[in-house]
Amino acid sequence: MAGVTLRQDGTVAQRPIRLFGDPVLRTRCDAVVAFDRALVSLVADLEETVSAPGRAGLAANQIGVSRRVFAYNLDGWVGHLVNPVIEAAEGEQEEDEGCLSLPGLWYAVRRAQYARVGGVDRRGRPVVVEGEGLLARCIQHEVDHLNGRLFVDRLSGSARKQAMRDLRERYIG
Ligand code: ZN
Repeated sequence: MAGVTLRQDGTVAQRPIRLFGDPVLRTRCDAVVAFDRALVSLVADLEETVSAPGRAGLAANQIGVSRRVFAYNLDGWVGHLVNPVIEAAEGEQEEDEGCLSLPGLWYAVRRAQYARVGGVDRRGRPVVVEGEGLLARCIQHEVDHLNGRLFVDRLSGSARKQAMRDLRERYIG
């Protein structure tokens, strides 16, 4: 149960994921200022929800909570970060990327190959997470979420056109 935390009452919930078109995904999240029971509960739910197979990252606004918190699940390594700030981003990678809020849509997105993010944990203790490849991609994707940005915003040229077509078909119809 690495990284999975419990509520005071011992319950943890998998929360439904907000989908493209929900305004909460387009709203910049507020910084966490209270390190209280509600935050512990939010982190527990985020970690539980991101622990499902095939999930790599989840921002709080994806479960409808406009706070600067995200959780990750990389090779079974589950954790979270509160008030994350990208402190360094270097190099370049371009890989297929998807998002739980835009299910079934994958596009090649250019990101920094290396990223370092600083923040605090649910108790307010300083944390630094850094890495390359998928970890770096995940960090950048989740911090974008907290700023109200989606990965399709990062596309350009023909990939962007294709994405806009796919989104119109799927979400406007
Ligand atoms: Zn996402």
